Amino acid sequence: MDVLIHNTGWIEVVCGPMFSGKSEEVIRRLRRAIIARKRVQVFKPEIDDRYASDEIVSHADARLGAIVVKDATGILTQLDWRTQVVGVDEANFMGPELVRVANQLADAGKQVIIAGLDTDYLGRPFPPIPDLLTMAESITKTLAICMRCGNPAKHTQRLVDSEDLIVVGAAGMYEARCRRCFEPGVPKQEVLPFLRYPLRDPGPG
Ligand code: ADP
Ligand code: ZN
Repeated sequence: MDVLIHNTGWIEVVCGPMFSGKSEEVIRRLRRAIIARKRVQVFKPEIDDRYASDEIVSHADARLGAIVVKDATGILTQLDWRTQVVGVDEANFMGPELVRVANQLADAGKQVIIAGLDTDYLGRPFPPIPDLLTMAESITKTLAICMRCGNPAKHTQRLVDSEDLIVVGAAGMYEARCRRCFEPGVPKQEVLPFLRYPLRDPGPG
């Protein structure tokens, strides 16, 4: 008999550019789940070894212990099925299987909280986040502050010269930019802003 007491799972996605507070927001939600005495597991992809190997760490140094996996299928092998809340940080590096895995977890009654970049350094949709947005029950888009003009920023500006999709790094290699200041690819300015502060006045236009 279908009764009222039935635990349904769901998917929450937090997306936006680098420095927009995705990790902070996911850490905040997971801490609240821990306070509510839920069983929580947190996963992050192997590629993100910027700061700590077994923690998710925000740019402002908030931390939470995490299990490092090669890709999304690693979540299923490392999952304790008693876990009620599953956190995934840097989801854009988890691979396309994350869509199936996240749905499987939510179908199994788990709360799945996913953070990731929604666009890449050229401003293109960053798989598998767009697909996850169509499947999520809840979507939060976080914005950073544009490092050129101070407006809300939705772009991740790459500052170093590389055409690889993934160049792992943080301060100095990337900065947040708004739609007006974003230059897809590597900025054409001769002096990169992390080499010489304060920034040059971009001038009229
Ligand atoms: P994300 O996971 O989206 O990369 P984090 O949660 O790791 O973001 O870091 C967010 C923190 O980064 C902010 O609270 C702030 O202290 C810091 N920060 C550094 N640069 C910026 C910026 N350009 N805009 C907003 N916050 C920034
Ligand atoms: Zn700007």
